[in-house]
Amino acid sequence: MNETIVMFDMDGTLLDLAFDQFIWNEHLPQHYAHQHQCSLADSQEKLFQFYQKHQHTLQWYSSKFWSEIVGSDVLQLQHQFRHKIQARSGCHELLRALKQHKQQCWIVTNADIASLALKMQMTGLSKYFEQIISSESIGYPKEHPEFWTTLQQRYPFDPKQSVFIDDTARVLDSAKRFGIQQLYTIAQPSSLEPARDSAKLDYPVVEELTDLLELLSLNRPYKDIHDKTA
Ligand SMILES: [Mg+2]
Repeated sequence: MNETIVMFDMDGTLLDLAFDQFIWNEHLPQHYAHQHQCSLADSQEKLFQFYQKHQHTLQWYSSKFWSEIVGSDVLQLQHQFRHKIQARSGCHELLRALKQHKQQCWIVTNADIASLALKMQMTGLSKYFEQIISSESIGYPKEHPEFWTTLQQRYPFDPKQSVFIDDTARVLDSAKRFGIQQLYTIAQPSSLEPARDSAKLDYPVVEELTDLLELLSLNRPYKDIHDKTA
């Protein structure tokens, strides 16, 4: 079990977080205000209080949970605006190159199983991955230590040989505590917001997704590496 595995977060890492921000911060408050006959400001306040309360829990990532809380089918809302789901720039290029290098890649996401399926369907990313894992199937969010021990029991991997890329500091902290050695964060998870200042981030920052090829020393064509080591 010494093969390097590159684990990717999905939202904000491979995919533009702008979609999720639109659904949760823009469309859902409008929808909720309409459903409950209240002002947009009241709706925003109420929803943001809910978000605050449940952030970093498994429920926070559950369409089913939110559908019950807000009284509307949140998965249906995501379907309605599915054309807004976009891969981040360089995503396909990076994954194609990793595949060419026979690099094993996994998606490890907090998105629930239904949202994950919708996002795979809209982006066609699933073909690049050996494993696609939702924390809903693990029973803990990535922020929780049990997530990583359960993941490893079900899908054996060596944390010392693994690389993990995620845009959320608390998730990276949790992966670090578990023992994953190579950790990277993302400069600009959402195209709606400016890039974050790398000096203020606790992990090495990936500006462009394709920069990872260099960071993983895979920046030469597979054939070149093969010829040189043959
Ligand atoms: Mg993320």
